[in-house]
Amino acid sequence: MTQFSGDAVAVTGGGSGIGRQTGLEFANRGVDVVVADVDREGGEETVELIENESDAEATFVEVDVTESDQVEEMVSTAVEEYGSLDYAVNNAGIGGQQELTADLPEENWQRVIDINLTGVWQCLRHEIRQMNEQDDGGAIVNMASILGKVGFETASAYTAAKHGVLGLTKTAALEYGTEGVRINAVCPGFVETPMLEEAGMLSDETIREEIERRHGLERLGTPAEIADAVLWLCSDDATFTSGEALAIDGGYLAR
Ligand code: NAD
Repeated sequence: MTQFSGDAVAVTGGGSGIGRQTGLEFANRGVDVVVADVDREGGEETVELIENESDAEATFVEVDVTESDQVEEMVSTAVEEYGSLDYAVNNAGIGGQQELTADLPEENWQRVIDINLTGVWQCLRHEIRQMNEQDDGGAIVNMASILGKVGFETASAYTAAKHGVLGLTKTAALEYGTEGVRINAVCPGFVETPMLEEAGMLSDETIREEIERRHGLERLGTPAEIADAVLWLCSDDATFTSGEALAIDGGYLAR
């Protein structure tokens, strides 16, 4: 089983979908979890799940990743509660628009960029500052997407933000590797979560089948399949992996 020498992880967007599953899987391996989310109800539900299903501890912090002081509080909570911040998963994100590029209202563009790109930078900078102070450094995973590697019609802000997350990941990995901080990204294919439900991609059978067909495996992924990759990148099995954009996509990019 994947081994972890660190004690604590912070997961943004931990109140739902991939983030919730990632928090649960860290907890199942004995890592304490700071669940950070703008949605208090979802975040507190994840904490309850972790406490019921594992021996690890969990704390909820209400965080909007676009707000520097709230992100700082997430990091200081990990240190105060668990003594360090060994791992961080910058996963919070929104789906955003479904309009063609020229029809996209400016505020929609800005909101997606603010949360999905600037939010990751906000998290990174506070997490790196903390990890740089620790003897053992740390490991960070940013949640990108296959849409960080290829385009997708009617998702220009989302694809721009996710391409940006990969650039940010690679640059930060180069800057902080020698200080013991490994930084990687995961690029999931389409995964069955509330995000896809809200975008109407699960309930409409025709849209669902079209999306499934774009994957070599002709199905959607599960949050657990993405969480497994996040855990591996953070673990003691991946100590020579940094600056990687790991696609977990059921063959989407092979097409
Ligand atoms: P989800 O909607 O189930 O979960 C996203 C979580 O992020 C929610 O709990 C939400 O409250 C939180 N969040 C949103 N804005 C926030 C903010 N400003 N501050 C803090 N928290 C905020 O979605 P998911 O599918 O689990 O997505 C998680 C990540 O995975 C996202 O970054 C998404 O872009 C990425 N991703 C998802 C898919 C997919 O098909 N589901 C594919 C590729 C990448």
